[in-house]
Amino acid sequence: MITNYHRPQTIEEALKLLKQPATLPMGGGTVLNSPKYKDQEISVVDLQALDLNHIRQTGHILEIGATATLQQLLEDAHTPAALVQAIRQEATLNIRNAATAAGTLVACDGRSAFATMMLAFDAKLTITGDSASTVSLTEYWALRPGGLITRIDISSNVKSAYQQVARTPADLAIVAAGLVQWSGGRTRLALGGYGKLPLLAMDGTEADGLESAASNTFHEAADQWAGAEYRADVAATLARRCLETAG
Ligand SMILES: Cc1cc2nc3c(=O)[nH]c(=O)nc-3n(C[C@H](O)[C@H](O)[C@H](O)COP(=O)(O)OP(=O)(O)OC[C@H]3O[C@@H](n4cnc5c(N)ncnc54)[C@H](O)[C@@H]3O)c2cc1C
Repeated sequence: MITNYHRPQTIEEALKLLKQPATLPMGGGTVLNSPKYKDQEISVVDLQALDLNHIRQTGHILEIGATATLQQLLEDAHTPAALVQAIRQEATLNIRNAATAAGTLVACDGRSAFATMMLAFDAKLTITGDSASTVSLTEYWALRPGGLITRIDISSNVKSAYQQVARTPADLAIVAAGLVQWSGGRTRLALGGYGKLPLLAMDGTEADGLESAASNTFHEAADQWAGAEYRADVAATLARRCLETAG
């Protein structure tokens, strides 16, 4: 339960507040306001006055401000079509209007379409704390460094595709595949729809072995929604479809 609310006007002020115990940054608040925190007293530092919601193209990089909402990103002309598709699958319009890019990457589980696609893009997160650093999404999830995510960068001069299978068209994925290909041939495949976080299935200099990388990644991916054999099979099919449709 949120027991204290702060709305700092500067990043310095926010960082100072975040040093207090049980104090968390708040993006859209859709997780911090949820039953997940009902038994825990937390103070929140609302980031909305910090002017971190820009989306801009700089050279071949798409810079996404940490507090840009999923809906803002969905509607931006620079957002790659595959990412737009993943955002549409992520949540309904009301949640997309509140949920922020950074908050979604911090709070996501393996079924997040947005996080799956951002992993495929090899998104780089700028963390501002006592010092500034840039980490990949994989590093962020492994280390969970403190501080504030202020910006997320992805390459914009790439081909990309997103494919998923779910029980119904608007449901969360049971198997999701995000593929990004750089002009030099580098090919990254991320899989979602299962587990605690999306998984990186392949990051190679070309697309050879993509389907087997996909099925190997999900060879033990069994839960209440699907068996591992099914997921491994579907992941290979979706990886192939991504390769055929990337644009
Ligand atoms: C009904 C419902 C169902 C959902 N189901 C799923 C699901 O099945 N799978 C899934 O993956 N997601 C699911 N979501 C999560 C959804 O994607 C998140 O609600 C949303 O994306 C979180 O964004 P937010 O900005 O509201 O985060 P907030 O609630 O503001 O914050 C979430 C977390 O991120 C931290 N944070 C926020 N901004 C920053 C920042 N700039 N720097 C550092 N830390 C930050 C917060 O401290 C907090 O720990 C669901 C959400 C709802 C409401």
